[in-house]
Amino acid sequence: MSDPADLIIVGAGPAGMAAAATALAGGLRVVLVDSGTAVGGQFWRHPPEHARSVIPTEDLHHGLREYHDLREALAAHAQKGQLDLRLHHHVWSAVRQDDVFVVHAVDRRKAPQEIAVVLRAPRLLVATGAYDRQLPFPGWDLPGVLTIGGLQALLKGGGVAAGSRVALGGTGPFLLPVAASLAARGVEVVTVCEAAHPRAWLRHPGPLLRNPGKWAEGAGYALTLVRHRIPVRPRTAIIRAEGGARVTSVRVASLAPDGSPRPGRERRIEVDAVGVGWGFVPQLDLLITLGCALTDSADGNAVVAADEGLRTTVPGLYAAGETCGVGGAALAVGEGRLAAESVLADSGAAPVLRGKRLAAVRSAVAAQRAFARALALAHPIPPAWSSWLTDETVVCRCEEVTAGVIGTARAEGACDHRQVKQLTRAGMGWCQGRMCGPAVHCLTDPKQAYRPAERLVATPVTLGALADLDT
Ligand SMILES: Cc1cc2nc3c(=O)[nH]c(=O)nc-3n(C[C@H](O)[C@H](O)[C@H](O)COP(=O)(O)OP(=O)(O)OC[C@H]3O[C@@H](n4cnc5c(N)ncnc54)[C@H](O)[C@@H]3O)c2cc1C
Repeated sequence: MSDPADLIIVGAGPAGMAAAATALAGGLRVVLVDSGTAVGGQFWRHPPEHARSVIPTEDLHHGLREYHDLREALAAHAQKGQLDLRLHHHVWSAVRQDDVFVVHAVDRRKAPQEIAVVLRAPRLLVATGAYDRQLPFPGWDLPGVLTIGGLQALLKGGGVAAGSRVALGGTGPFLLPVAASLAARGVEVVTVCEAAHPRAWLRHPGPLLRNPGKWAEGAGYALTLVRHRIPVRPRTAIIRAEGGARVTSVRVASLAPDGSPRPGRERRIEVDAVGVGWGFVPQLDLLITLGCALTDSADGNAVVAADEGLRTTVPGLYAAGETCGVGGAALAVGEGRLAAESVLADSGAAPVLRGKRLAAVRSAVAAQRAFARALALAHPIPPAWSSWLTDETVVCRCEEVTAGVIGTARAEGACDHRQVKQLTRAGMGWCQGRMCGPAVHCLTDPKQAYRPAERLVATPVTLGALADLDT
């Protein structure tokens, strides 16, 4: 693409792909940037292009028709020179200078070499998705204990099953597709421990009735789990992983309504891998440094504050998908389309969606947002989860800070994750608190939504790439 772009989109997941396709259909020139090797994000994660024929993963996916349509539309626009697709480019900073967004990325196509790239456009759309929310427990740092998103990413992105006898635990419906994907690859899923009780859903009948498709999806997974004889145990949790060089067993406890283990209701199960997930945390690094206002969502996360058209509080800056709140791929696609419509309107271009089609997308997004809220309320983090910890449990794995040390910091007056970080170094390591930040927050200030610390550099970059910027 020789002329400057009208719009930069960071993130080529369902939200970013849909936004790009709509903006391109409206005639805009777009740069679409993603750190991954292929478009699709987390939901439509695929092996790299060259490996697809030898690693078939299509059977693990849903909604592939939409993915293929979007991919074809992007490829057609790339061929015409209207789309500049930058895969393997990780954005580490974005700033607004004189009404232009300056996006700094590192091109990692020739890794370990990193090449600095600077992109500029008058409008920026951030669709960077989310990452797994983890709660520590004794043994969670043993090899073989993964996040459920990690298990799914290994399967979809590389056809790799992390174990042959796997226990899953945490809360939320994402446990079900992960169990189904593992079973489809011949893995024995010995238990799915769901901390919530299904009764919690009955308190939110409205959003359930407005989203019959979600019921059908859930029923499909339930059938798969029954077919593979996978037991789903409500109000239970994996409270300990045991082993030496890697995990060999887990302790599963029946939970009281507050999430504390019921005395005498614990069992040991032999496994060779474990997957745990407590929902997701929106990836807000770029949006926070750009100065966007945040708002609280029902799952205990802060999310970017955006209007109905997905405009943030910073002029020219838009967000879509899980950065606006965790809610699944269909919602991300709808929001991507609406955000791109706003970009078109604000750029003075003609809309792509009109009349009934636009109304249908708006109404689906509203229904899916309501469903996401109900889902978050039905699958909370158990209030007494910290009773599973011992003083020796490592909470910050990068800096090896234990629950005992964090307890001492709290006793000395630290009352949020930033103060704990200053006193203990929890969150100061390589991952910059992405893993432990939500957990430290839940240990210190659980009534407030989790607001990640501002990270001026969103991914580690080499000094060489920074030095390149001089030229
Ligand atoms: C590990 C994982 C696996 C998941 N698997 C499933 C699943 O199998 N089924 C399901 O229903 N839901 C899954 N989810 C939930 C999923 O996040 C959403 O439902 C859906 O993918 C959200 O779409 P999105 O476009 O908002 O974000 P995503 O799909 O997460 O896309 C965001 C994209 O932004 C890119 N990105 C982020 N930061 C940067 C940066 N700084 N520079 C450049 N690129 C960047 C990422 O590489 C990614 O491709 C998963 C979530 C995670 C974290």
